[in-house]
Amino acid sequence: MPRFVRLGPPAALLALALTLTACDSSKDGSRDGGRHGASGLGDRYFPKAGNGGYDVSHYGLTLAYTPDGNRLTGTAVITARATEDLTAFNLDLAGMKVEKVTVGGGTAAYDRDGQELTIRPPTPLPKGTTFKAEVRYSGSPRTITDPDGSKEGWLRTADGALALGEPTGSMAWFPGNHHPSDKASYDVEVTVPKGLTAVSNGELKSERTTADGRSTFTWHTAEPMASYLATVAIGRYKVTRSATTDGLPVYVAVDPTQTAASSKVLARLPEIMDWAADTFGPYPFSSTGAIVDRPGDAGYALETQNRPVYPGAPDLVTLVHESAHQWFGDSVTPKSWQDMWLNEGFATYAEWLWTEDEGGATAEQTFNDLYDHGEDEYDDLWSFAPAKPTTAAHISDTPVYLRGAMVIHRIRQTVGDDAFHDLVQGWTAAHRHANADTAAFTAYVEKAAPDADFDDIWSDWLYGAAKPPRRP
Ligand SMILES: [Zn+2]
Repeated sequence: MPRFVRLGPPAALLALALTLTACDSSKDGSRDGGRHGASGLGDRYFPKAGNGGYDVSHYGLTLAYTPDGNRLTGTAVITARATEDLTAFNLDLAGMKVEKVTVGGGTAAYDRDGQELTIRPPTPLPKGTTFKAEVRYSGSPRTITDPDGSKEGWLRTADGALALGEPTGSMAWFPGNHHPSDKASYDVEVTVPKGLTAVSNGELKSERTTADGRSTFTWHTAEPMASYLATVAIGRYKVTRSATTDGLPVYVAVDPTQTAASSKVLARLPEIMDWAADTFGPYPFSSTGAIVDRPGDAGYALETQNRPVYPGAPDLVTLVHESAHQWFGDSVTPKSWQDMWLNEGFATYAEWLWTEDEGGATAEQTFNDLYDHGEDEYDDLWSFAPAKPTTAAHISDTPVYLRGAMVIHRIRQTVGDDAFHDLVQGWTAAHRHANADTAAFTAYVEKAAPDADFDDIWSDWLYGAAKPPRRP
């Protein structure tokens, strides 16, 4: 998401327990020697997010939504591989009524506790087994308030709905392993009342009318996607299809009230994608685009995979920022929410690079202005280290974005422009469609420039809380 557009007051700091939910032996089948996959992955900021014991390779979501009454029915078919012997495992699902669960075609017992849906397959799943779990569910999907006060999950709009998932909102509309470390491919089919359009990630495979006159849109995402980047946007849209000069399909859906304000900036999307590919390496996905809803439909733009969501007509640097996230966040995905600066630092630095390449301020000027006067505008600029946000309420704060970008610029200052260009392209290639954490990044940079010394950059800029000394 772009910096500083989140709305709402900072939430009271949530005391997030870092302990995992203990596995209750009366539920987990351990009486007969079974194993219960962990109910959370122990993320430093969102410890209950995700689950242990399995790795999802594919989500098949069949959804039907009626805006009148906010009614969603869904079937999620989750293909996963057991990474340990399992007699029970969890999915994350917030709200909604679960109607039936099967595993391998057999009826599975289940129970719910908060966001944890615990499933006991009819027969144990040995380590290494690939299995399909099917969950049928329905209800009114909920909006989730983040620790920082912003809204995600299922957002109702004037003409439909908008699903946004960073960091935990996807559990409001489908059950899954909702942590960025478990990426998967997706097929998403959405049926909506006639006249509405349902836009999602990947490519539109079919659009048809059902027997009762509703419209069904089927979307396919072949490249791995973290669940926080999945989206569904339902409403009245003006859809425009085009292509970049490289032949990449562009699918843009704009709320009719926003077409006039956004047409000029969106016309530059193909040019931005070509610039980004030159700058960051080959584009990692099979299509690109944008979803423009009305201002206020969301409090922020989000880099949903293939086509970011913008609440109202975006400005040019926001378009650059969310497009750059396709490399930084969507293709190279953080291993945990602590690595958020790898997303936002790079996406912010992309804004600086674009501005420099367009003949505006150089990144060096932007860096120096921030170093000399940044705290005048951003009073929390030096409040914590980019790689160590103080709490979950701060993972989208200024240091993650601006200090994160300053870390990237310090690396460029250290290695020089040509080596920096190669280093960035090498990084996106090394972890394409995968996950990476901060330690992998610093190790990569050190290996790419073995003669340079990065110790002070890591200790003062990346992990140091105080304002670093001016560079030697
Ligand atoms: Zn961002």
